[in-house]
Amino acid sequence: MIAIKEDVILAPYTIYKIGGAARYFVEVKNAEELREALAYAVEKSVLFFILGAGSNVLVSDKGFDGMVIHITGGSVLVEGERLVVDAGVMMARAAGEAVRAGLTGFEWGIGVPGTIGGSVRGNAGCFGGEMKDVVESVEVFNALSLKPFTLNPSQCGFAYRHSVFKLHPEWIVLAATLQLQNGDPAVVQERIRKITKERLEKQAIGTKSCGCIFKNISWEDAGVEREDLVARFPELTPFRDRPNIPASFLIDTAGMKGARAGDAVISLKHANFFLNEGNATAGDVIRLVADAKDAVMKKYGLALKEEIQYIGF
Ligand SMILES: Cc1cc2nc3c(=O)[nH]c(=O)nc-3n(C[C@H](O)[C@H](O)[C@H](O)COP(=O)(O)OP(=O)(O)OC[C@H]3O[C@@H](n4cnc5c(N)ncnc54)[C@H](O)[C@@H]3O)c2cc1C
Repeated sequence: MIAIKEDVILAPYTIYKIGGAARYFVEVKNAEELREALAYAVEKSVLFFILGAGSNVLVSDKGFDGMVIHITGGSVLVEGERLVVDAGVMMARAAGEAVRAGLTGFEWGIGVPGTIGGSVRGNAGCFGGEMKDVVESVEVFNALSLKPFTLNPSQCGFAYRHSVFKLHPEWIVLAATLQLQNGDPAVVQERIRKITKERLEKQAIGTKSCGCIFKNISWEDAGVEREDLVARFPELTPFRDRPNIPASFLIDTAGMKGARAGDAVISLKHANFFLNEGNATAGDVIRLVADAKDAVMKKYGLALKEEIQYIGF
């Protein structure tokens, strides 16, 4: 039996600690509870939004006039070289279970502070790994037909910070099976240690943020000739032979590091992290997002696009 609450402030459910109230809010752990929650949203004729760990969302100051369905917790099963993980399980917990089982290939997961469900949807990745490299299959719940089904990796349409789930908001991730390999426990432990150290050095860990605000810009999407742009801006030469130009580099060289709107500030450590340094509002973040877009467009003629998801705007 699910417990539906009304007028629940969403800020505590996000790493940003920003955002107003959801009209309805419910925590679910499995398909049965999800089905019940969706039936309630239909009965009340309101939209729903699936929330994982809230590590890649910006919630509006006026909240969300619908039902937020918070998928949280669940189990991790080790089956040989496979990990079967429920959508609400945190990536770090799944990575830890893999290490304990002597499996390699998912050490990088320790660096993503989101759930498996949110990470499948966004094809999350870091330190050379991405969900697309490890996902063998995904259990999905169709919010329209109220039926579960399974997708294989090619049906997931994974690309850089993209998957088919972004095109089908009615498809909700219930669980994922990850295909890993047996590894040397000492090597795996050492890799985890290195990743953790590097993350602490490069990112504003432990602060209120939502990770990278913008996607890196792929040369295909840049809408300009690679050679022309590099000739005009020699500082982009190191990225000529890479697939993407890092958004953090563009924001930094457009002079926006340290820029502020209210309590929202662009991190000095990593310019694609916009921090909440106190009581930032969603309005503050939105102003800073617009300023960063303007600065990069003015300097390079390139359009930054958000990686984060907006709720209630
Ligand atoms: C400090 C910090 C560091 C970060 N570092 C990285 C990094 O290195 N690499 C990286 O890729 N990301 C990084 N992120 C971003 C974030 O952790 C990932 O995008 C993560 O995968 C989001 O998962 P979540 O559970 O928090 O999703 P949420 O933020 O809760 O939701 C994000 C989107 O996913 C949808 N969603 C959530 N669960 C499901 C589900 N079960 N089914 C369908 N849709 C769902 C939501 O509706 C929403 O649209 C970082 C964030 C922070 C705060």
